[in-house]
Amino acid sequence: MRDTNNYSTFVVHPRYGQYPHETGFNPDRNSGVDVHLHWHSPINCRVPDTAIRANLAKQTPATVPVTHYYDVVRQCRDCGRPFLFFAREQKHWYEELGFGIDSDCVRCPECRKQQQRAGRLRRRYEELFHVANRSTEQNLEMAEACLTLIEWSAFHERQVSRVRMLLNRVAAVEGTVSTRHAAILDRLSRFESRG
Ligand SMILES: [Zn+2]
Repeated sequence: MRDTNNYSTFVVHPRYGQYPHETGFNPDRNSGVDVHLHWHSPINCRVPDTAIRANLAKQTPATVPVTHYYDVVRQCRDCGRPFLFFAREQKHWYEELGFGIDSDCVRCPECRKQQQRAGRLRRRYEELFHVANRSTEQNLEMAEACLTLIEWSAFHERQVSRVRMLLNRVAAVEGTVSTRHAAILDRLSRFESRG
């Protein structure tokens, strides 16, 4: 099996890096060893010579347990860039973190991090949403969070009307526009006039 990937274009994983981890190991069904690979590891995605053994006792129970993990080449669902889902990472997922063997890794490390960031910001936004009688600072924070989530495509564009409403409310209460307020307005108009 020849490996023709140019890993220098792959998204870097903060822990495992960018290049396959060679073990020189390729489990062979014909040698009498029980070999079950993950469904997300078809032959065209597998990096040869990167197999490691699974610890079935630690893996979450499954109808067909996975006996070996390979580094596999994936394409990120969000940014479209290639990345590796490492054998050691899979072992960590399925044996240490308790993820079901059916769970798959569809986003690159950067997009996963971005997704976590967006999740945190969305929770903060929702928290502010439920605050009765928000202060000016809270309204501005909420407007900023909303705008950031729109810019990240986590919120629909039509939510800009909410950003504007929050800013108008602040302006009505304060009777003046602070530097922070002006900065959000500026970002908002840049977003609305983008090409
Ligand atoms: Zn990505």
